[in-house]
Amino acid sequence: MKKSKIVILGGGYGGLITSRKLEKLLKENEAEVTLINKHEYHYIATQLHKTGAGTASDDKITLHIPDLLKTNKVQFKKGTVERVDFNNQQVCLEYGEKVDYDFLVLALGYEVDTFGIPGVEENAFQIRSFRSTKAIYNHVIHQFEAYQVDQDPSRLTFAVAGAGFTGVEMIGELVEAMPKLCSKYSVPVSDTRIINIEASGTVLPGFDQKAIDFTTNYVKKHGVELMTSTKIMECTPTSIKLDNGTNIPARTLIWSGGVRGNRLLEKLDLPVERSRVKVDNYLRVEGMTNVFCIGDAARFMKNDKDALPPTAQVAIQQAEVCGPNLIATLRGESLSTFSYHHKGTVASIGNTAAVGNVFGFKITGLFAALMKQVVEARYLFVLGGPALVVKQFAKIKKPHQ
Ligand code: FAD
Repeated sequence: MKKSKIVILGGGYGGLITSRKLEKLLKENEAEVTLINKHEYHYIATQLHKTGAGTASDDKITLHIPDLLKTNKVQFKKGTVERVDFNNQQVCLEYGEKVDYDFLVLALGYEVDTFGIPGVEENAFQIRSFRSTKAIYNHVIHQFEAYQVDQDPSRLTFAVAGAGFTGVEMIGELVEAMPKLCSKYSVPVSDTRIINIEASGTVLPGFDQKAIDFTTNYVKKHGVELMTSTKIMECTPTSIKLDNGTNIPARTLIWSGGVRGNRLLEKLDLPVERSRVKVDNYLRVEGMTNVFCIGDAARFMKNDKDALPPTAQVAIQQAEVCGPNLIATLRGESLSTFSYHHKGTVASIGNTAAVGNVFGFKITGLFAALMKQVVEARYLFVLGGPALVVKQFAKIKKPHQ
């Protein structure tokens, strides 16, 4: 009998955990599974801010996908998806290659939303992928090198747009990195500026007051210029224009003002709402029985009004249901409905401080930073067992390699 073909698009949190589930649950020769991802590595997106600031080594943030697949039940294919032909059940990759499927999982993740602010798309840096954050670090290094030649203060002015979860994590990492970079390039720390620009009235909108106060005090204590209730109107390669009329001379703006679903999905014949694909309670694309969508690309309604937020926690939990639901579809069995269980949120502010809420407990400081590490370790454990946890935690960052 012809084996069914399952194709998973995207090797992020959703795609990888779905693959691991299928490896565990599929019987030998029950289906042919292919995981397709742009790169041969999986990046730990929740730590990308560290790559941007150079505070973690590349091999701590990226994991070789074929090494994570433990059996021959899932094959990995490196490729960039350009289109999906739902009528002929084919995925079209760059260079004209086509991959047939019977069942498909869309786990293509997020893109950065710059809301059409002039110059941001072209001139600001994005926390979007391993490559985009590596570009931030390379740029920062170049600014330090060039400053030694021209002493232009705009080179050492590092601005982050957005003081939400990602923005605060990026700021925390810059605070951590700056003294080491200054020492390496023999520049006084007082020559550098770190600026955080946020349209809302506080940092971490939506977090509790304790977290907001802790973060505000922490970043201010470390010299960050916090500009809340301030909007960016325009960004050029050398300046940032604000709504209060100020023009900040700066060659680095790191944009963390918002994310949206992958733009590719909007070009396909799919039910897209607010840039994400609408899915039913079983995580199937609305109106389709053989196509699933999970993670940041999916719009799953938690109630009549609100969709689940785009987080790794949601993507992982959805993958844990998507895998078994694929197998149930294949075997003609009944599917399980997905329900989300929020365990908490922890935002790091550098290596030794964090704020958050875990199982209903508000936490701040070093304890919260340790909890953040526990969360990261748990993910590694799910991906590769204790061996991967030990391997990754044993990797020590050489200072600004
Ligand atoms: P992704 O992890 O984005 O994976 C998508 C994959 O698809 C990528 O490998 C990408 O290369 C691939 N891909 C995209 N387009 C194509 C294409 N055309 N062809 C082939 N492959 C393609 N969430 C939390 O829960 N907790 C946190 O603490 C947290 N911290 C964060 C910190 C930062 C700095 C950032 C940026 C995000 C953070 N998040 C956090 C959010 C979390 O990272 C995302 O919600 C999560 O990555 C979504 O998983 P996903 O599988 O949907 O997509």
